[in-house]
Amino acid sequence: MKSHTRVAVIGGGVVGCSVLYHLTKAGWKDVVLLERDQLTCGSTWHAAGGFHTLNGDPNVAKLQGYTIGLYDELERISGQSCGLHRSGGLLLAESPSRMEWLKMAHGRARYLGLETSLLTPSEAKELLPLIEEKYFVGAMLDAADGNLDPYGTTQAYAKSARIGGAEIYLQTRVTALARRPDGTWDVATTAGTINAEHVVNAGGLWAREVGRMVGIELPVLAMEHMYLVTDDMPEVVEFNRTRGRELPHAIDFKAEIYMRQEHNGMVLGTYEKACVPWQPHTTPWEFGSELLPPDLDRITPSLEVGFKHFPAMEHAGIKRIINGPFTFSPDGNPLVGPVQGLPGFWCACAVMAGFSQGGGVGLALSQWMVNGDPGFDVWAMDVARYGEWATRRYTNEKVRENYSRRFSIRFPNEELPGARPQQTTSLYDTLLAEGAVMGDSWGLETPLWFAPRGVEPRDVVSFHRSNDFPHVKAECRGVREAVGVTEIANFAKYEISGPGAASFLARLMTNKMPRAGRLVLTPMLNPAGKLIGDFTIACANPERFLMWGSSQAQIYHMRWFESQLPKDGSVRLRRFDLDLVGLSIAGPRSRELLAQLTDEDVSGAALKFMDHRAMDIANVPAMLNRVSYTGDLGYEIWVRPEYQRRLYAGIRAAGRPLGLILFGMRALLSLRLEKNFPTWYRELRPIYGPFEADLERFVDLGKPDFIGREAALREKASGGALRRVSFAVDAADADVLGDEPIWHGGKVIGWITSGGYGHWVERSLAQGYVPSALAGETAERAFEIEILGERRAATILPAPLFDPAGARMRM
Ligand SMILES: Cc1cc2nc3c(=O)[nH]c(=O)nc-3n(C[C@H](O)[C@H](O)[C@H](O)COP(=O)(O)OP(=O)(O)OC[C@H]3O[C@@H](n4cnc5c(N)ncnc54)[C@H](O)[C@@H]3O)c2cc1C
Repeated sequence: MKSHTRVAVIGGGVVGCSVLYHLTKAGWKDVVLLERDQLTCGSTWHAAGGFHTLNGDPNVAKLQGYTIGLYDELERISGQSCGLHRSGGLLLAESPSRMEWLKMAHGRARYLGLETSLLTPSEAKELLPLIEEKYFVGAMLDAADGNLDPYGTTQAYAKSARIGGAEIYLQTRVTALARRPDGTWDVATTAGTINAEHVVNAGGLWAREVGRMVGIELPVLAMEHMYLVTDDMPEVVEFNRTRGRELPHAIDFKAEIYMRQEHNGMVLGTYEKACVPWQPHTTPWEFGSELLPPDLDRITPSLEVGFKHFPAMEHAGIKRIINGPFTFSPDGNPLVGPVQGLPGFWCACAVMAGFSQGGGVGLALSQWMVNGDPGFDVWAMDVARYGEWATRRYTNEKVRENYSRRFSIRFPNEELPGARPQQTTSLYDTLLAEGAVMGDSWGLETPLWFAPRGVEPRDVVSFHRSNDFPHVKAECRGVREAVGVTEIANFAKYEISGPGAASFLARLMTNKMPRAGRLVLTPMLNPAGKLIGDFTIACANPERFLMWGSSQAQIYHMRWFESQLPKDGSVRLRRFDLDLVGLSIAGPRSRELLAQLTDEDVSGAALKFMDHRAMDIANVPAMLNRVSYTGDLGYEIWVRPEYQRRLYAGIRAAGRPLGLILFGMRALLSLRLEKNFPTWYRELRPIYGPFEADLERFVDLGKPDFIGREAALREKASGGALRRVSFAVDAADADVLGDEPIWHGGKVIGWITSGGYGHWVERSLAQGYVPSALAGETAERAFEIEILGERRAATILPAPLFDPAGARMRM
């Protein structure tokens, strides 16, 4: 083995081999792969080899599309067959709700450029005669589905990588990882030590153990998974003979089974409710290419439904039962990217669908390593999306929940119960007693809405407007007419201090930094000029800044900030997490309320819009920002957690005579829609530039230097390809959710990022991206938005429907 390499990829499963290939493709030739035993000897060898594009996140779906398209290229370069069967696949709906879900998926596929079509049960039976038509209400056909040979495909990646210059060392187990003072890694193996500039953890079933070598506990867990291979079936032989093609894949959501043709029989796999984790603490190094004992009892409930839905399967003989382990993260998407605090250590693990996702993971990671950026939006699989709250037990509970729900519908207003409550603030019990319906916000229980006395605090899950509708409406009215209070502990909060703080922030952010006592809103760009953050920044004094941002992106942002910190120690960076919690009061009477809680002058003249102050409020030391995401007169009050109850009690007592109401996140999001305010992760993501996102007023191109400035100048000159716009939608009883296609002139021209009902303005609202040339098309009903399969007329709103001049925020 050589003594030095640019990249050491640990693990020769399909994912490690894909990363290796993509690194060579991106131009890095001095790269090696270290494999404990033989290629594919982890979870890869016994995979069922199916691939598909469907994913809850459209960006992951796109990467799955990339993976599936890659196999021809691999075969061409390597000369190795991947054993491809591009048979197409049917997703079978057993209920109207499932059919609505398929219509949503079909709509989304349109703007992703994926080829899907909706079918009646008899059309589905025509393609797959094994089904009993009466159990289904419809289906979706996905032309990209198929299956392959897992071993051949992994070899094709490996051969292509070798052709590109990579080296692969088999029988070489990595036993320890040590970081040198120069930032490179000493990778100790059973065949000696190799020094690497970068290390990639593609350890699959052992990814947790590889993580532990650098002191981290990755949220990843293996689950047992079973599939059956049947003997030859006359129905299959007959279909092949008469139609001259293979049967398509099928997913039967109700039965929780997937199936496909294998030779003259079928493969049938289950995601059963009674699922079982494998090696919940430590994966033994000696585990080899062996299978686990099958347990048919566990999957019997699925088989019983499946046999009714596919009667021929009941009489088919079983040739083989495969039970093998493979890994999942808590939400089922991969863990990819650099690990915060460990420069040069990268993850490519928890890939549960290696043959749908492996190519995309390899592409993203290689671009990230070579160019400093994955090149597209990989947030849904970024390893940074989990915080320290994703402990081993949390992971275990969430992975089981996710596995058992793999074929269940996740409704847009559905909060999953697994591993909750994980984090709570001191107000948790008080708010529950007030009727709060809680949601999970980056591991923290956060009030979504409040059920009035006599109403059960529970969501009825639906794709349509649901039982929370009148109550969220009442909350919105309460804010707009008087004053409301909501908990905002879930925001990310940071402190940036030291003599270099101001210039550090000025280089990272697009806006001018505030003077002492003031706030600014500012996007943050990457060097390519794409949005990687959106913050509120306060200046306490010239060497101390406070900053608020998206809770979900805390680790993502810390990773970026740390990579940009000056080496001279002139900047200190602190993430408060729940060491700083907050309440926001908003509405036209919020100033009266505030005035009763403090001795300070809070008049409009003394405390202006976008002011920041340190002051005592309700007897407790607090920081106050005069800003509100509701778009109304409002204040955010930030305190240490030990003061939060006192602050809350003070606000409640003083607010009673003013008509104070409690409101939750759903009302807050509705109120912000009425102001056309964007949100991070929906409207603001690293695929958009600041002008496209309509954030021009927060970009100070007069500043001499900030990251992304050159690209921003180019975007301003060109106008950008896309433009964020807001719509009023002629919706019926279902509002947009996000990811719906936007139609214009009979074509899909854009997509929705978020939306909902504007309860104060009483309109259904949406935001999304359209080509910039169409952004000025403000004629009534010039667009259509596809909601649950129906095209609804939509009108661009050039100005917010609530308070377009912004007078309320400034009053
Ligand atoms: C029964 C079953 C059916 C499946 N069906 C499908 C399917 O139809 N479609 C699909 O897309 N996916 C399927 N999968 C999932 C698929 O197998 C995985 O997504 C894929 O194998 C993940 O590959 P990987 O490279 O991440 O991990 P692995 O295949 O586990 O590879 C990890 C490799 O790293 C090596 N390694 C670990 N630690 C070290 C170390 N310290 N030093 C050196 N080497 C190390 C291991 O030896 C191993 O070879 C199935 C899985 C199972 C079990």
